[in-house]
Amino acid sequence: MKILVVGSGGREHALAWKLAQSERVQTIFVAPGNGGTATDARLKNIAISDPAALADFAEQEHIALTVVGPEVPLAAGIVNIFRARGLKIFGPSKEAAQLESSKDFAKSFMQRHHIPTAEYQTFADLQAAHAYIDAKGAPIVIKADGLAAGKGVVVAMDLNEAHAAVDMMLSDNKLGDAGARVVIEEFLAGEEASFIVMVDGKNILPLATSQDHKRLLDQDAGPNTGGMGAYSPAPIVTPQLHARVMREIIVPTVQGMAKDGIVFTGFLYAGLMIDDQGNPKTLEFNCRMGDPETQPIMARLKTDLVQVMEHAVNGTLDSVELEWDRRTAMGVVMAAAGYPDTPRKGDVISGIPPETADSVTFHAGTSLNDKTLHTSGGRVLCVVGLGDTVKLAQKHAYDVVEKIHFDGAQYRRDIGWRALNRKH
Ligand code: ATP
Repeated sequence: MKILVVGSGGREHALAWKLAQSERVQTIFVAPGNGGTATDARLKNIAISDPAALADFAEQEHIALTVVGPEVPLAAGIVNIFRARGLKIFGPSKEAAQLESSKDFAKSFMQRHHIPTAEYQTFADLQAAHAYIDAKGAPIVIKADGLAAGKGVVVAMDLNEAHAAVDMMLSDNKLGDAGARVVIEEFLAGEEASFIVMVDGKNILPLATSQDHKRLLDQDAGPNTGGMGAYSPAPIVTPQLHARVMREIIVPTVQGMAKDGIVFTGFLYAGLMIDDQGNPKTLEFNCRMGDPETQPIMARLKTDLVQVMEHAVNGTLDSVELEWDRRTAMGVVMAAAGYPDTPRKGDVISGIPPETADSVTFHAGTSLNDKTLHTSGGRVLCVVGLGDTVKLAQKHAYDVVEKIHFDGAQYRRDIGWRALNRKH
């Protein structure tokens, strides 16, 4: 069978890599893909990004299944377009993707369905937003309503920062339409975890738990990024907490969407903040898998992903039981010089070792020109190490990271520190 994966990041490389392990797969097309998917013989890059053109391609090539990685095509309605043409695709409809594409939609949805989240209000009016900030005080969090590629959230530790963030979005229009409305919400303290499930419209299948590292520098310092590393499982998510998140957040979300007349299908990602008493609140929803969480999660998945996806598009996820590698998987992101503000492109990448039983390197911002790999985006690679302990997984990842070279490479040296502090 032929499969189409939409996207070009490390997440899509990991999904395509896992799908390609299925014996039933003939070819996996990746649109547009990256330097890693270009060098894997089982994968084929195609330079199409328009959703309708992708549907034409899927029809012509008799693609059995399409899997969408990033949020932008989902918010643009790629699933609606494919379904209208009778093509099988796994992801949320445009309407369901509003859980991610509009923070105001997500917040009012959570309030309506009593899903634990930070207190908030939404503003389009500049003066009203400033007045609310003065009334609430700092720390406080300012979020652009729409998709802003990770640039739309300001966690303001003082009032000046909060007022400046509102001005940047509502008055200077720095984020365009995405910042035409802002959600201003209560600051939540605690530890974050990523909780990702697959939903077929009715049945919910949780994936392994994971934790991301959002900040650029060691000890969680520096600016927010798309994510500098992730590991799975996340020891903070105990079986008790897992059951509670399912009961209080995930199940009410899927059922709440259905009550509101929107059937949810696709990956559902709840970004959680867990306070020091162990109580979870929802920071955000994503309607797709996380990047870099996907890379360690896929490295641990033993079940045939093609079969899982088929059940997902056919509404039979209740018959699936996932099998996971018991080891920890640790993904370390290597980013380009200048990331996150102005990533430099064109640096030559060398030294990527072949995959082994305890490490695999996924590509993101890489391109293949004249048989040479170059950097072509902010996050360049995600090296995943696997090990029986967190420490060993970390060692296996960093052993590979140290073999890889490109000028200006930036990476954190402490990915996994929270898990290491918890269990040895
Ligand atoms: P992503 O790139 O994960 O999709 P996003 O731009 O949609 O991010 P959020 O996930 O809502 O934005 O927020 C980004 C980060 O800001 C969170 O991971 C968290 O670290 C921090 N954050 C968001 N909301 C709060 C809050 N209410 N209290 C404290 N920190 C917060």
